[in-house]
Amino acid sequence: MNHVWSVRARWILPVDRPPIANGVLSMTGDLIAEVTWAKESRLISKADCVDLGDCIVLPGLVNAHIHLDLCGLRTLPSKFSTPVSFVAWLQQVIAYRRSASPDEIHDAIRQGIAESLRNGVTLAGDISADGTSLIELEDSPLRAVVFREVIGLTRERARETWREAVRWLAERRGNTRCQLGLSPHAPYSVRRGLYRLTADVCRRWKLSWATHLAETLEERDLLQARSGPLRSFLEELGAWDECGLCRDWQEVMRYAEDSGHGLCIHGNYLSGTAPKRLVWCPRTHAFFGHEPHPFRTLMRQGSVIALGTDSLASNPDLNLLAEARTVLSRHPDVSPEEILRMATLNGAAVLGLGDYLGSLTPGKQADWIAVLVPSQEQLATDAHPVRWLLESDAKVSDVCIGGRWVISSRAEMEGSVQDR
Ligand SMILES: [Zn+2]
Repeated sequence: MNHVWSVRARWILPVDRPPIANGVLSMTGDLIAEVTWAKESRLISKADCVDLGDCIVLPGLVNAHIHLDLCGLRTLPSKFSTPVSFVAWLQQVIAYRRSASPDEIHDAIRQGIAESLRNGVTLAGDISADGTSLIELEDSPLRAVVFREVIGLTRERARETWREAVRWLAERRGNTRCQLGLSPHAPYSVRRGLYRLTADVCRRWKLSWATHLAETLEERDLLQARSGPLRSFLEELGAWDECGLCRDWQEVMRYAEDSGHGLCIHGNYLSGTAPKRLVWCPRTHAFFGHEPHPFRTLMRQGSVIALGTDSLASNPDLNLLAEARTVLSRHPDVSPEEILRMATLNGAAVLGLGDYLGSLTPGKQADWIAVLVPSQEQLATDAHPVRWLLESDAKVSDVCIGGRWVISSRAEMEGSVQDR
């Protein structure tokens, strides 16, 4: 058996079972071996246990929707006043994509990875315009599903984007931390034949699949009436082809299912049919001033809902814990436990990795983070640790991925215990 080492903490939140006071998490290799009360642990040994003290230990957070290659657009949100025009915002994003140099994009991706890790994100669902972020992610400890974007409503553009995507898939393998996928961008920008093709290929090659869906009222108008501001926008770009559009959002959700494990992003205006897997981006949703998100209805209809930030072009930072805290402050009727699940286990599940990641469960990967509890807050923490976590502004102090310390509040511990 590999070397076993442990961390002890005031609270451990496994997520798939109730919080454990004075808990111990033991690891061997990259896996979790045991999660239990300190006094009941079979594996803890004094020499190989790091006492994290007054901390809450929880699974690494999952940011199920991010665009790392747009991290250079951090100042964009401040240029808009509400209500934000979606088309005017899209034009700014396109202008950035056309003007940024490859070096700038690589820098932005590296910054986004570092910011994610600092905020306790250990798994990201990243949509990458040309797949560049995979190169940076393969060199980082952050786990990711990298969805290469495909965009094309006209027949010509759809063929071109497909050729580029196939070339990327042929050249890239990913690694144990990074998996590959495809992301047909959105119903207003993707030809139905391209949706069908990506779904077929992802199912056959067991690749991940994700699409933006039901993000704006303009998107609904375009599909229903084939008109509105998105049509004018696409015509100006020379990217309009009415024959290419899907019939409705239900058709896109069918492609999501045909792909094997498809993920829908946003769903801000969905009613009636619910996708099986959905990412909700609460602060990006607020930035655009959308109508209230239908997450309660979608959950009742069976959707597994995860949380994402979306890009820095519509969000102040990449802090997934802040997304979870926003949900609790705006929807106090939702239980903190449910919200924490959205930020961890549901994120891993919608990315197809729920059997390996997302909760502190023996046999899963040892991805965990710690949040320090100030001494004056200990009574409140003990009364309800999950609620305290989501009502406080406490920061992430430690990050461990696959049993290896990535960020440690105790520098002397890094590389010491787990490497023995
Ligand atoms: Zn997005």
